[in-house]
Order: sequence, then structure tokens, then C-alpha cells
Amino acid sequence: MSVNQRIKPITTEIKENLTIGGCDTLELVKKYGSPLYVIDELTLRTICREYIDAFKNYPNITVLYASKALATSAIFKIVTSEGLGLDVVSGGEIYTAYKAGIPMDKLMFNGNNKQEWELETAVDVGVGRFSVDNFNDINLLGKITESRNKMVEVLLRITPGIDCHTHEYIQTGHLDSKFGFDLTQIDEAVSLILSKYPKISIRGLHAHIGSQIFDSAGYVDEAKILVSELVRINKKYNLSMDELNLGGGLGVKYTENDTPPDVKDIAEIVINTLNQEFDKNKLKDIKLYIEPGRSIISTSGVTLYTVGAIKQVPKGTKYVSVDGGMADNPRPAMYQAEYVCDVANKMNFEDKEIVTIAGRYCESGDILIKDILLPKLQAGDVICVYNTGAYNYSMASNYNRVQKIGMVLVNNSQSDIIVYRETLDDLISHDNIPDRLN
Ligand SMILES: *Cc1c(COP(=O)(O)O)cnc(C)c1O
Repeated sequence: MSVNQRIKPITTEIKENLTIGGCDTLELVKKYGSPLYVIDELTLRTICREYIDAFKNYPNITVLYASKALATSAIFKIVTSEGLGLDVVSGGEIYTAYKAGIPMDKLMFNGNNKQEWELETAVDVGVGRFSVDNFNDINLLGKITESRNKMVEVLLRITPGIDCHTHEYIQTGHLDSKFGFDLTQIDEAVSLILSKYPKISIRGLHAHIGSQIFDSAGYVDEAKILVSELVRINKKYNLSMDELNLGGGLGVKYTENDTPPDVKDIAEIVINTLNQEFDKNKLKDIKLYIEPGRSIISTSGVTLYTVGAIKQVPKGTKYVSVDGGMADNPRPAMYQAEYVCDVANKMNFEDKEIVTIAGRYCESGDILIKDILLPKLQAGDVICVYNTGAYNYSMASNYNRVQKIGMVLVNNSQSDIIVYRETLDDLISHDNIPDRLN
């Protein structure tokens, strides 16, 4: 079983209370406050190693952590120390990696509307690869590389026409997406670069077919399309592209209903498909990238909350409100994402009831978990919501003018802050009162 097939961090233990990374979760709340994001370092390092190990039979691969799932300096340090590179999508993610001392050649810069200053920064600091998404990207990069007299190496992002939720392969190769070049536009993109921008070196092709994927079929179709396009374009334009980026998207287990595949099994299917396609086309030495985000970081993360108000609607739902919610985890409100939790200080309680865990924010939709069977709750109990490592902190907001919560890293019974909780002064630090209002 790989880490992405688990709901809880691998170090989760039940002692007197729920323990993660050897740390008592109630002690963590006492020490660092509530709510609190907790990242289990061993779980994170384990999934990084599982990815590297699963693809070790492929001679030339770089696993890029898709930073947007959770981008902080310490997380970048950990994943790069395990041999991963970083897939980044903004000047902010590049800056975070730069300041953390991550070698810039380990970065791949993605995004459908990269800003001119972001591309300039990326060229100046020497980001390793650019995934060129559209004609605007090409023209901006062309201009920047000319003015700086500097080469860049790019992959062209294509939309291969795979709908990964239905695994429907749209025969025309046309998919209504804001990302990447439609298969009917890719030749025009290549021609533009070759005719106008000699400092853009086209190294290969990139695609990303979706997220929270449970089935390998989409990756197989994607690999076939990428190889056939690479061969076709190389031949037509006399190029020697030799790199493929298959993107990310592997699913995780938020609840018992989720059945993500083992990383090893996916790797084997992808490598076999690629090797068959390479043999058919007499291709050799193709460099491969993959970009998992969610499946790297999700399971390592949990969020601890403290119970406050409890409301029993007469003949209706029992709402248990916690001190966080949609501002620290927008996923349930945004797309009905489901989570499970434990009561950290009542792990051995038998007396249970069905409750709904509500957030503290002023939206009826701010419900973290609907109808879950839990030990009977009281104010002051601590709830641990699992699998919150990905797309929680990275999508957090200050809604209702509430301070963003902090994050600690746990390992071997040790805990360290990796993101400080915001203060009230942080909240007003960007405010300005024009003189005439005083
Ligand atoms: C979001 C994204 C990823 C990561 O997706 P996950 O589902 O988190 O694995 C990888 N590549 C690209 C281009 C993305 O946009």
C-alpha cells in the first residue's frame, strides 16, 4: 500500500490521545494553539521515496512536486532533499524556492497566464524548464530571451483531448480547456518559435489530464498521444525533442469510498506503455517528468480544531462548530469535498452519535463534514481532520478577517513551526488609511 492509499499519516497512533509523528495532538494544540495544520515528515518523505522507487526502472526521470498543492519553504526543503524537483506556477512560488536555496534548474514553470515580470524573473534566475502554454507565453518569452540574449528550454503544453473523469477520449483531439495548445494549434506554435525566436529551444511536450484520478486508462491514452505527437512534430520540423512531461493528478484516499491506485502499479503501466510506444517509433533516451502534487502532500497533513458551540436543531441536525472551516479548508464549500475525522481526546470512547462538523465562518455552506459518527462531543474536544495537506493552506483566505492558522512539522516526537500563525497586526499590515480620513 502506498501512502496515497491511506487516509491517515503513517505514524498515526492511539495512545491516551491521538498521536502523530510521536507527538500527542492535544499537546500540539496546547503548545501552538488551535486550529493547527500538522505535517508528518515521515509520511511526506515516504511517499517521495515511493515515487522515486516506483520509477527507478525508467532510466531518466525527474519527479517534480507540484508546488501549488502546498508551497512553503520547509516543504520545498524536504521534497527537494528527497531528490524531487519543483513544478511552480507563479513568481511567488519561484521566490519561495529561490529564498529557500533550491537550485533553480530543478524548477519547471507552468501556468496559463504567466505574467511578464514572472517570466523575466524566471529567465533571470535560470529556471530549468518552461512549460509554454499559449501564444502569449511564446511571444513574451521570445521578447525576454532576445533582450537578455539568453536561451530557455521549453516544453509545449498540449491538451490531448482526454477527459479523465469519464476516461472518454474525445476523438477530434479537441477539449474545451483554458490550458495548453489544442492539438490543432500545436503546429502553429512550433512554427512561430522556429521562425521568430531562436533563443527558445523546444525540448519536448507536456500534458496534465486532471486531478484526483483513480484509473490508469487516462495516463495510458495520454502517453500514447504525447509520443505520437512528439514523433510527428520531430519529423515534420526536423526537430529532436526528447522530453515528455505527463503531469500529475494521481488520487488520494479522503474517505473509505476513494480507491486510488498504488504508485508502483501506475508507474509500471506508464513505463510499459511508454516503452512500447518508444519501440514502435524507434525512439531512445526520452527524458520523462511527472508532476504529482496532491498525492505527495495530502496524506501527510491533518488539521486540528477545537470544538465550541453545539446546536441540536429540534428533530434535525446536530451541528458541532469548530474554530476553523472554509478559510483554512475551502474544499468542502468549493466542491463538496469529503473528509473524515477523529476526536483526538476520545479515541477509545464507545458512546457515539451522528453529527455535522460546521466551520466558524459566516456562510451556511461552511460545513467541514456532514453526518459523521463520532464520540459524543463537548466544547473543548479536539478534532483531527485527515488528509488536509493538499489544497488547504495553499487555498486559505482571511475570510471574516480571521488570522490564517499556523503549521507545524512533526517527526520522532519533535515538533517545529514551519508556518507561523498570523497575528492581528498581520491582518492590518497591508491596510492604509488615506490622510483625509483622519
Ligand atoms: C495541478 C497540476 C499538477 C498537480 O496536480 P495534482 O492533482 O495535485 O497531482 C501537475 N501539473 C500541472 C500542470 C498542474 O496544473
